[in-house]
Amino acid sequence: MSRIALVTGGTRGIGAAISVALKAAGRTVIASYAGNQTAAENFTEVHGIEAMKFDACDFDACATSVATITSRLGPIEILVNNAGITKDGTMSRMTRDMWDAVIDTNLGSCFNLCKATFDGMKAKKFGRVVNIGSINGQAGQYGQVNYAAAKSGIHGFTKALAQEGARFNITVNAIAPGYVDTDMVRAVPPDVLDKIIAKIPVGRLGHAEDIARGVVFLTADDADFITGSTLSINGGQHMY
Ligand code: NDP
Repeated sequence: MSRIALVTGGTRGIGAAISVALKAAGRTVIASYAGNQTAAENFTEVHGIEAMKFDACDFDACATSVATITSRLGPIEILVNNAGITKDGTMSRMTRDMWDAVIDTNLGSCFNLCKATFDGMKAKKFGRVVNIGSINGQAGQYGQVNYAAAKSGIHGFTKALAQEGARFNITVNAIAPGYVDTDMVRAVPPDVLDKIIAKIPVGRLGHAEDIARGVVFLTADDADFITGSTLSINGGQHMY
């Protein structure tokens, strides 16, 4: 069914794979991005999916953009909160700005977009929300107090909002990816990456499509008995 889907950070990396997979599943997809115009234009040209620029940290910009989509296409029925950044540093080196940026982008954006879309889903008595967390929000990670706190917050946010949505056929779930081969992970020094891969039972980094498959599964019309869950997609790394 051609439901309206918004994927934040949907033009690159994991988000791009999610946008493409949702389109293949018959959804009408809008992929948002922050500022990488070249990547967004390439993405639209290759995949024929509309890209929309707005800052997911900006509460008013989220409200305005959701209103624009709603007036053009109808209420957003599938929301994938995928936009995320890292700004790593040990506690000694981490600044307040690094903390704020990571909390605002990874966690604040979930609030902004759920706030802008949730009443529309309630009115429609249909909604599918998937929040992209991280294995590092479950287990913590050296040098990532900001990122681990934001992603851990996503897992709590998901369970709380799932309870509000349950009576309205709105499911709210999280996916906790392990290490996936995107620009974010390519920024990790090669020697550190080798050590990370050594700890992944299946012996490889994830592909963005591995995560996208999970999103398609959780956003299916008949996935209405799965809510408040976190799906670990990490090659088995969560067991260690
Ligand atoms: P990328 O860095 O490859 O892509 C990030 C995307 O988010 C880009 O499209 C970017 O837009 C967008 N974005 C960043 N900030 C904002 C903002 N303020 N407003 C709107 N969009 C924004 O990241 P990944 O694909 O690797 O990660 C996607 C998600 O998965 C993130 O939440 C990340 O934390 C999570 N994750 C990733 C893992 C990995 O191994 N890669 C592991 C676990 C979780 P633009 O293109 O304009 O810059």
